Amino acid sequence: MKYEVNKSEEEWKKELTPEQYKILRQKGTEMAFTGALYNNHDRGTYLCAACGSALFSSETKYESGSGWPSFYQPTKEEAVEKETDSSHGMTRTEVVCAKCGGHLGHVFPDGPRPTGLRYCINSASLKFKKE
Ligand SMILES: [Zn+2]
Repeated sequence: MKYEVNKSEEEWKKELTPEQYKILRQKGTEMAFTGALYNNHDRGTYLCAACGSALFSSETKYESGSGWPSFYQPTKEEAVEKETDSSHGMTRTEVVCAKCGGHLGHVFPDGPRPTGLRYCINSASLKFKKE
């Protein structure tokens, strides 16, 4: 068992909305500028919508202009895992939740300092906990 939180696809289907299931479990991508959280400026923590693990803080969220919530680093390095994604004729780095393996988005090397990284995350993969 690779992940701490392990559920069957049937269980995930029951717990998640169809949109969340498509993105978290089937590696979908929501349309830019349509997510609930890309324009969220409240202070708080972004949790995995599937398992509730704390993934990103509002302190590292920034305006990337991409239309998806963008962060320059996760709450801690171990909170997410990175995998090579060669789909759609591109080589990108996929970001998944380290606890449940849910697909979150991708990370690109064009972010701001101090990390220079842009974690481009689907709103549907996140749950916001206001401070
Ligand atoms: Zn998770």
